Amino acid sequence: MKIQILSDEMASRIAAGEVVERPASAVKELIENSLDASATEIFISVEKSGTSSIRVSDNGEGMAPEDLNLAVERHATSKLKVDEDLFRIATLGFRGEALPSIGSVSKLQVVSRSPNAPTAQKLCVEGGKKGEMLPTAAAVGTSIEIKDIFFNTPARRKFLKAPATELSHICDAVNRMALAYPGVHFRLEHDGRTVADYVSVNDGKDRLYQVFGREIAKGLAAFDWRQGELTAHGFLSSAPLSFPNARYLHTFVNRRYVRDKVLTHAVLQGYETLLMKGQYPAVVLFLNVPFGEVDVNVHPAKFEVRFRRQSDVHEAVARAIRQALRQEAKEPGPRSGAISSSSFSGVREVALPYGLSARTAPDNPAPTYGNVFTLPPRAAAQEGFYSSMRVLGQILGCYLVCASSQGLALIDQHAAHERVAFEKLRRQMDAGEVAMQNLLIPQTVRLSAGEMMLLEQKLDILRRFGFDLEPFGPDAYAIHSVPALLPEGDYSQVVRQMVADLAEVDTSSKLREHLEDRLATIACHSVIRANRMLEMDEMRALLSDLDQIDFATQCPHGRPVLIEISRDELERMFKRVV
Ligand code: ADP
Ligand code: MG
Repeated sequence: MKIQILSDEMASRIAAGEVVERPASAVKELIENSLDASATEIFISVEKSGTSSIRVSDNGEGMAPEDLNLAVERHATSKLKVDEDLFRIATLGFRGEALPSIGSVSKLQVVSRSPNAPTAQKLCVEGGKKGEMLPTAAAVGTSIEIKDIFFNTPARRKFLKAPATELSHICDAVNRMALAYPGVHFRLEHDGRTVADYVSVNDGKDRLYQVFGREIAKGLAAFDWRQGELTAHGFLSSAPLSFPNARYLHTFVNRRYVRDKVLTHAVLQGYETLLMKGQYPAVVLFLNVPFGEVDVNVHPAKFEVRFRRQSDVHEAVARAIRQALRQEAKEPGPRSGAISSSSFSGVREVALPYGLSARTAPDNPAPTYGNVFTLPPRAAAQEGFYSSMRVLGQILGCYLVCASSQGLALIDQHAAHERVAFEKLRRQMDAGEVAMQNLLIPQTVRLSAGEMMLLEQKLDILRRFGFDLEPFGPDAYAIHSVPALLPEGDYSQVVRQMVADLAEVDTSSKLREHLEDRLATIACHSVIRANRMLEMDEMRALLSDLDQIDFATQCPHGRPVLIEISRDELERMFKRVV
């Protein structure tokens, strides 16, 4: 590792700005340096939420004395050799600005030793003034101490938040790095107390348990996806587990944590209608793209990136998430249902295994043992999850009560109908056209002048959804056909709502984005609102329909279709067990 000072030309191309905004930013920069130096152990110790001191020690490759001397200079980096490197950044750092920036606002001490150096060297910088380098005793690696951050910039000190807040930023910074580098041992201490100690693990899932804790981690399923040079893998929550904010939504690009609108949007779009409005999933997404495909030199703290082919990335990520969720809905791991996002105690909304879990050969070959024994193929005709339930009856005109293999199952018949209708529509839409029914007697829908104008522009789009309309006088349209799925009735309301919905959709790409919402609108109107007693065969048909579709556990607005109460929970409710 040889450090050099970047040419003025290179330095001027580097996104300038505030690198050290708060103690957590310094922690982040130091950890990045340790990771870039191939450390496998990184110990962080802070006092008074980092305002009094921050120490980061690693067992990485250290710095030779001449490198150490340069490291604290501006634009001194070992990570960019030639100009083109700036466009294919493979390291976490690249600007050579962290150490000098930190050194200018604190009392910085760097102790470092490279593997073949006889001793370590110590170098101090205080308020930007570099001291003399002195030999000292230390193991191979680097240990950096920052004291009294912002001691000479009172304005910045004043902007620091409450100690608990600053500490939580530090924890977040450590946790994000830890998620991306499960093979590295991270330890964080605050005021002498160990806050986190994540020993090195081989499996990212184990790191997830360390960082998120058991309660959350066990609810997440691993996914893995590849398309050409793009790969996406990580962990995600399936439907019933959700949160009121994006706290558990983490996106990484080439192992760098980023807050990227495109990625977040793509992830949420992948969830489509599985979440209620305002709810967020737990997702840890690791996206890997060729280094040349992503520009990380756009934000001073390197929290943002720019993709060369943004829409491809967006589409790929949304697809990866959607496929993972579909897979999860079909073959939930043992974790499913373990987590309750409802405030009920004892009762939970469950993402249950449903449908046939017969795996298809190319995706999941049956395990073979030395090519000698092959597992027998699964029994072909297994009963679906929903169909296998015994229907006990219907209550309050809207809930089916069933006996499931786990215990008691309650199904919201409206939510179930909506989800079934929605999935049918989506399939038809994917196949090119929605099945229509012609009306023997066209219905008319009266519209305001504004609605008339809007509708005129949306006729084509509406046709794709199954609505065939023709002008009928100056202030009305005649409805000739509607989606076959809609029951007999007055269609003017659904048409009016579609027109209002489509008002915001001006281009066809926007339409794709909002397609799900439109389909949900139609699905919603396809359900008979009034509470109605169902015949036994209608109930059975509904259950078997649920087995035929993806995502049968939530209605298109994200409400649960099913609530299951297990034997355990019943026993707890009746205080048979405590
Ligand atoms: P950058 O990481 O952008 O190169 P920094 O100011 O963070 O800039 O660090 C400057 C240089 O100091 C790095 O390029 C690296 O060579 C060296 N360095 C910093 N921290 C460490 C460390 N923990 N271990 C080894 N080398 C380090
Ligand atoms: Mg750095």
